[in-house]
Amino acid sequence: MLPTLQLLENTDFPQIKRAQLSTLQINLGYLCNQSCVHCHVNAGPTRTELMSKAHVDLALEVLKARQIQVLDLTGGAPEMNPYFKYLVTKARELGVHVIDRCNLTILFEPGYEDLAAFLAKQQVEVVASLPCYSADNVDKQRGKGVFDKSVAGLQALNALGYGHGQLKLSLVYNPQGPSLPPNQQQLEQQYKHELKTHFDIVFDQLYTITNMPIKRFGSMLISKGQFADYMTLLKHNYAAANLAQVMCRSLISVDWQGYLYDCDFNQQLDVPMPSANQQRLHLRDLIQQDFAGNPIYVADHCYGCTAGSGSSCGGALA
Ligand code: SF4
Ligand code: SF4
Repeated sequence: MLPTLQLLENTDFPQIKRAQLSTLQINLGYLCNQSCVHCHVNAGPTRTELMSKAHVDLALEVLKARQIQVLDLTGGAPEMNPYFKYLVTKARELGVHVIDRCNLTILFEPGYEDLAAFLAKQQVEVVASLPCYSADNVDKQRGKGVFDKSVAGLQALNALGYGHGQLKLSLVYNPQGPSLPPNQQQLEQQYKHELKTHFDIVFDQLYTITNMPIKRFGSMLISKGQFADYMTLLKHNYAAANLAQVMCRSLISVDWQGYLYDCDFNQQLDVPMPSANQQRLHLRDLIQQDFAGNPIYVADHCYGCTAGSGSSCGGALA
């Protein structure tokens, strides 16, 4: 994979600072039942990096100490961390809204037969990536047979009450190539119509997410000679109004070892949260303070969050 950070560091993106922390986004490890070619963390069935019980307990302490409202779980397949259910149950006891970024196929793996019912019981919001509503495009991006399993997964979640307003089911769309996502509301209507008509699937919300010029996507742009053009597209579509709402203002991203980043993209770039003494900040540092007012590490990839309607883990910002 071609490195992108050196192409992004020299930036004119505005300096921004953290506000009050409301979301802790934790990567529980790189173990996954799939091994998608585009995966930004190279997750797969043979990866052994998993957040330990000690760090899971530390995360729970942080949720409590900082009165954090949202816990957003990613991976790999976050459900494959042996402490996933423990973390979710304890966080829910604290009244925290839990989001599971679920690949849907995990619901059909041996040993995970009760996972969907567990998520429903705990009222966990399920966020699932479905880059298109046609089988060909999804299988091309995520692997053969993934579309059929995703459909079956969404139907299983619907049968448990997901997608009808009470138990929140959200889908994520990102463009296949170097373009900005279309209008989120219009695409959501299209998705709702197609999925209902062809598969009798309902869901609550579609999140459109802009592709970031980093990791695999960035590397693909470089190898095709499209990196500069894509950056020009992002910069030309800069919308200053999105700056106040970029997710790093209120979210901290945590890696499987407990280290802190301003967002998941900075985690992927391995750029830690800036600290006064140049030490890497860790979950344990969050017990004492939430770092409101601290500067955020920005570089040219941040234009991906502010272009057009804006982009975050929760979709468009505008
Ligand atoms: S399902 Fe997600 S985490 Fe797993 S390999 Fe695919 S992209 Fe990576
Ligand atoms: S990539 Fe987006 S979320 Fe991350 S630091 Fe830049 S503006 Fe913030």
